[in-house]
Amino acid sequence: MRNEDKKKDLPSPEEFQKQLSQFMKEHFSGFQFPGFTPASPGNTPTTESEEPVERSIDDLKSFDYRPKDVKAYLDRYVIKQDEAKKVLSVALCDHYHHVRLALEGKEAPNYAKQNIILVGPTGVGKTYLIRSVADLIGVPFVKADATKFSETGYVGSDVEDLIRELYRRSDNDTQRAQFGIVYLDEIDKIAMSRNEAGSRDVSGRGVQTNLLKLMEETDVSIRSPQDMASQIQAMMEAQKGKKASSTINTKHILFIVSGAFDGLEAIIKRRISEATIGFAASRQETMESDEILASVQTKDLIEYGFEPEFVGRLPVRVVCHSLGVDDLYHILHSSEGSIIRQYEQDFAAYGIDVLYKPDGLRRIAAIAAEEKTGARGLMTVCERVFRNFKYELPSSEVKRFEVTEAVVDAPSDELAKLLAVQSERAREMGLAILREVTTRFTDSHGIELVLEPEACDHLIDLAVGKELSVREIWQDRFKDYQFGLKLIAKNTGQKRFVIDRKAAENPDKQLSDWVVASYRDQDQVSEELPPSSEAASIEGEDSAAKKH
Ligand code: ADP
Repeated sequence: MRNEDKKKDLPSPEEFQKQLSQFMKEHFSGFQFPGFTPASPGNTPTTESEEPVERSIDDLKSFDYRPKDVKAYLDRYVIKQDEAKKVLSVALCDHYHHVRLALEGKEAPNYAKQNIILVGPTGVGKTYLIRSVADLIGVPFVKADATKFSETGYVGSDVEDLIRELYRRSDNDTQRAQFGIVYLDEIDKIAMSRNEAGSRDVSGRGVQTNLLKLMEETDVSIRSPQDMASQIQAMMEAQKGKKASSTINTKHILFIVSGAFDGLEAIIKRRISEATIGFAASRQETMESDEILASVQTKDLIEYGFEPEFVGRLPVRVVCHSLGVDDLYHILHSSEGSIIRQYEQDFAAYGIDVLYKPDGLRRIAAIAAEEKTGARGLMTVCERVFRNFKYELPSSEVKRFEVTEAVVDAPSDELAKLLAVQSERAREMGLAILREVTTRFTDSHGIELVLEPEACDHLIDLAVGKELSVREIWQDRFKDYQFGLKLIAKNTGQKRFVIDRKAAENPDKQLSDWVVASYRDQDQVSEELPPSSEAASIEGEDSAAKKH
């Protein structure tokens, strides 16, 4: 094979990785090669953050928010957590003012970065706070679970992947990535408790050390050393004489870690009671759980199992409180990001208005509170309540409905009632339309057309089924009917016709049957029927049809 042919056969880096990975899987089952497992959940950081924010570094150069501006913005979305909002607003303003100075080349030396520890149960708005701030300031934001990382990066992800993810979310803009926010949840799971027996991840300390490096200052290559494809790519680019891959400096990246920190409260309590006697000790007994957590100190976190240097790099401590029924109600009712707005939009797409009644919202909040998953419970409850409404209503005539306590408690029953009322209304409306069109037919053609109730039901059902108006169904089925009927009238003198269900099901066949019969009967003198006697009329026509 000539050299050129060989070159042509070279796979792309991605293809190379895929083939090698496949080979390893086939020949060494269970073998895990760093970076070779294609995006499995355990091997990639579970990062949360939707689209990359389309902002430029200029936003940061002109950063001039004050803590009260940031808090006011957060108030629109995040309910409660007032103290957390204040502390965060101050820390974030400090951080980005410092960033602005650094961008102007006027950075203060020895500045201690305002990395943050957020303590609080699940679903109370920790992520929401940080995500909202990142949106406001216009910096890239990455969230991951600390439990996904391992010391070596061979089994779990490498902490440096977080920085590469920031880079990706900055639209591959190294400069912007350097001012992003990294948010690590479940940080408490990588603490190495010395006091509690239990199977904590032994690599927790190693992960803390790796994170510490990032929090201090380090350069991270935008290409992962474990990602074979990008390494090959880098190699190829180097061979072609392209510039070596660039790096991201972590000095100004803000780190925020969070967790529920189960067991921390007991440590703080013990410390307080050991240090105090008498009044203070009894005061401690009356302290609320949230209040105790708010008095967390560095030594409590070290006792909890964090390395002193690690805690030292996280100077800002913020506590988010659990949410009660009232808070959940306010989230639904007042937060600009409330889940009910999403449902409103979903229904509006089908032209359906939703009206939330206070008793309905309160009931959703009360059921959600029982789930003990904070505001996440609201999503679960809403999903259950609206599931069938979302399925049924878009294909129904319902254009408006109310969310009451009864709807929340028994959504299926209330939906059935709503649909029943609606179909009764639709029937009444359909009947009125059919009355109108038949009257007009008589007025225009001098021939009376009578629709039996079952015929009306059939035409109305047809309209609903085909998502057409009753008028459209009428026009479609009885178009040109007057010509046939006039012919019959000419042959037999009959001026009144009754449409029963069978005739409504197939109007054309009925008409042709009548026409054929009318030729047979044309010599007979048609019986003069009293106009009000419907039954007699049907009988007369039936027998005419039968004769045929
Ligand atoms: P966590 O505290 O576990 O990080 P999140 O911030 O992710 O919880 O909350 C999940 C969702 O619940 C948010 O996206 C938001 O819609 C809602 N939510 C949680 N807490 C609040 C709050 N205090 N105010 C308004 N919405 C909230």
